[in-house]
Amino acid sequence: MVLIDQIIRSRRKTIAIMVSREGQVIVRAPLRAREDLIRKLVQEKEAWIRQQLDYVRAAYPRYTPKQFAPGEQFYYLGLLYPLHIVPVSRPALRFEGVFYLAQSAQPRARKAFERWYRAEAVRLFTLRTAQLAALHGFQYQHIRVTAARTRWGSCSSRGTLSFSWRLVMAPTQVIDYVILHELAHTRIPNHSRQYWSLVQSIAPDYKALRNWLKINGHLLSLE
Ligand SMILES: [Zn+2]
Repeated sequence: MVLIDQIIRSRRKTIAIMVSREGQVIVRAPLRAREDLIRKLVQEKEAWIRQQLDYVRAAYPRYTPKQFAPGEQFYYLGLLYPLHIVPVSRPALRFEGVFYLAQSAQPRARKAFERWYRAEAVRLFTLRTAQLAALHGFQYQHIRVTAARTRWGSCSSRGTLSFSWRLVMAPTQVIDYVILHELAHTRIPNHSRQYWSLVQSIAPDYKALRNWLKINGHLLSLE
């Protein structure tokens, strides 16, 4: 038997089953679909669901919730660095190839890390977007940093580019891909074939980088 983790009801007309990368079985169903019918359908699809679960478990690295304990590792630009708890640090969290966190700040370590990643994101995205725009002849208005978990970047019709601070944990090639993806939207706002050929012309290995985010995106977290 397969257990359903979540039923999401909406105005849709059909029932769809999906397996999330965390290995949860999620069913999207019409508002009035009877629950026994949903469960029956899920059992009928058991073989397919098991296959998806096996695939997800093999393909996606496991995320371990953060404890902010000494020695624990944190991503920065795609590499892991250990956390050291020290009696005094100013600012409370600083990075010197090792993350140093003041003992007194340990109870609010998550906030301290988020603040650090955000500041890095503002610095890095401002710098790198300007460089890549100049290199490839793109124009944009502003940079914004968001806390989005899966929407890594976006581009408004007015040319404001938004990027999630979580991307600072990803390798620089992945960061560059997301920046180029959004810069390309300043010229072509949709995901048409022309758009992807523009992306391909400036980032020939974009498919591998996009895939990296699909497989590892859930690791870029502080939860
Ligand atoms: Zn896009």
